[in-house]
Amino acid sequence: MSDNDTIFGRIIRREIPADIVYEDELCLAFRDVNPQAPIHILIVPKQPVAKLSDCLPEHRGVLGHMLLKAAEIARQEGCGEAFRLVINNGEEAGQSVFHLHIHILGGRPFGWPPG
Ligand code: AMP
Repeated sequence: MSDNDTIFGRIIRREIPADIVYEDELCLAFRDVNPQAPIHILIVPKQPVAKLSDCLPEHRGVLGHMLLKAAEIARQEGCGEAFRLVINNGEEAGQSVFHLHIHILGGRPFGWPPG
């Protein structure tokens, strides 16, 4: 495990198991082990970047790709038109794994403002 590696890097390399729901050359999506909603999936870029605020113009393509795929996965997984995407950026915002990921949450109503 290199310095900037995380548990998500190990999932991408199939070193540890995950319930994978989607994969392509740019990203991987798998179920969260501690789901906060009936549907809770994480979508991660295969090329690691720690967090959204570290992204550069060169990440534009993969970021757009992940957003489009997140909507597709939400539909496939049965969220209907009601789902929430979350990116926690930084420890104080709740980020615990420093490999960028989008949470796809669905299957229940969501309040606003978020906690
Ligand atoms: P965050 O707090 O935004 O960094 O989100 C990290 C998420 O990763 C949490 O919702 C965890 O439940 C989830 N998580 C941690 N380890 C695993 C794992 N091995 N497989 C799937 N999800 C995980």
